[in-house]
Formats: sequence, C-alpha cells, structure tokens
Amino acid sequence: MSLPQTPNQRLDGKRALVTGASQGIGLAAACALAQAGAAVTLVARSQDKLDTVVSALQGAGLAAQALALDVNDQAVIERHLSHQTFDILVNNAGTNRPKPLGEVSADDYTAVMELNVRASYFLTQAVVATMPAGGSVINISSQMGHVGAANRSLYCASKAAIEGMTRAMAVELGPHGIRVNSVCPTFIETPMTQPYFAEPDFRESVIAKIPLGRLGQIEDIMGPVVFLASPAAGLVTGSALMVDGGWTAH
Ligand code: NAP
Repeated sequence: MSLPQTPNQRLDGKRALVTGASQGIGLAAACALAQAGAAVTLVARSQDKLDTVVSALQGAGLAAQALALDVNDQAVIERHLSHQTFDILVNNAGTNRPKPLGEVSADDYTAVMELNVRASYFLTQAVVATMPAGGSVINISSQMGHVGAANRSLYCASKAAIEGMTRAMAVELGPHGIRVNSVCPTFIETPMTQPYFAEPDFRESVIAKIPLGRLGQIEDIMGPVVFLASPAAGLVTGSALMVDGGWTAH
C-alpha cells in the first residue's frame, strides 16, 4: 500500500509579510517563517531596530528585508504594498494600555483599536487583493479575545474583534483558496509585558492561572505560526489556535 504522507511545513518559494517584526512575538514569527524557507519582509516603525534584525537573519543565510512604516498609515501601506504580492501575512503589530474601566480615555480607545483592529483589517484588505490561492493570513490575537480580565476591557474588546474578523474573512476568502486563522497566546515575555512582570505578585497570579505552570516565551509561537502558514494546515481556516498553556481550558 502507499502510506499517507504528512504534508510538509517548508515554505520555500513563499513570500511573507510580518508586522511588528522588530522585537517580541513578531520577531519570532519572522524568524520562524524565514527558517522554514520563506522570504520575509519585516515591518515596524523603527528602521534601526529592523536593520539589526534583518542583518542577523541575512547573516544566518535567510531571506529577509526591512520595510519601515507605520501600519496605521493606510496611504503609506497602499504606496508600498500595491505592487507587491505575499503568500503569507502575519498581523502582529499591537498594543495594550491596561487600566481599570473608569480610567480608560478616548485617546486610549483610539490608540488600541486603531492599531489592534483597524490597521490589521485594512492591511489584510490590501494584501489579500493580490494574494494567490494557497495564501495564509495569521492574526496574532490573544487568549484575551476569548476570556475577560480586570484592567483589560479595551484590550479584550480589540482581540475579540480580531477573532470575529478572522472568522468572517475565512468564510469570505475560502472560495479564493486563502486561509485566515488566529494565534491566541497567553502572557509571553516580551518588551511589551516586561513592565507587568516587574511586579512579583502579578507574575505569580498569571502563572497560577496557567495549567502548564510557566509564562510563554517567544519561541512558543514559532511552531504554531509555521504550521498555520504551511500546507500542513491546508484545511484549517477560521480557527483560533490557543497557545495559552491551558489558561482558557478552565
Ligand atoms: P511588543 O514587544 O510591544 O512589539 C510590538 C512590535 O510592533 C514592535 O516591533 C513595534 O516596533 C511594532 N509596532 C508597534 N506599533 C507599530 C505601528 N504603528 N506600525 C508598525 N509597527 C508597529 O509586542 P509583543 O508583546 O511582541 O506583542 C505582539 C502582538 O502579540 C500584539 O498584537 C499583542 O497584542 C499580541 N500578544 C502579546 C502577548 C504578550 O504577552 N506579549 C500575549 C498575547 C498577544 P516599532 O515600535 O518600531 O514600530
């Protein structure tokens, strides 16, 4: 008999665009895709930080280029991306302003919703216009798109919006052969979360809610991103891949 073969997770010949790729989760996603064979375009605002990461990737023999821009600037996005085609898009650039409900300002609301939701929405619109069949959109969401937490009403609202947009776009883009999924991490140690974990009580309270008993590291999202980008996930769309150590299983 001929045995079924596991679809491979190589991405040779594919082009990927990763936002927020100069540090943290986006940096790990960009490295993972490049290590799997994709040519990766790394986006962030800081040219210096991007250049450092791209030099390291190129020094390791991987295909990478920097594209310094603000994903909130739709005109700039259209100017830079209208003539480019990508097989993989990772919407990762995001932010958080944790505050009690009563202290959230209109400025907080605009900053979080514009970057976490609006920028991802319109970047996806621009990129899928030329994305070929077989393409994959991966939204870096959060466990907070599925559960609530104190001081996170705004962040949870933004990530729940990402979850809704992921499902709706999966339905609409399925007939074009484009898959859309989200990755939902628990707390990962990155520059964004560093200040939170400076408080030992907060750190302990987070670890207590994670059945696997540890905070996430950026390496934890690398396998899930490559999987969702690859033919191994060929029938996976509209899904939320929890990378949460079991937080949401409670
Ligand atoms: P981070 O360390 O703060 O990194 C954010 C990245 O986004 C940086 O590369 C930053 O570079 C870039 N960026 C920010 N604003 C941008 C803009 N307007 N245009 C282009 N790039 C921009 O964040 P992180 O902790 O890695 O989190 C990344 C994503 O994962 C976010 O969507 C976050 O909500 C999600 N997430 C994080 C955790 C966690 O515990 N860390 C958990 C669940 C989900 P520049 O400042 O140079 O632009």
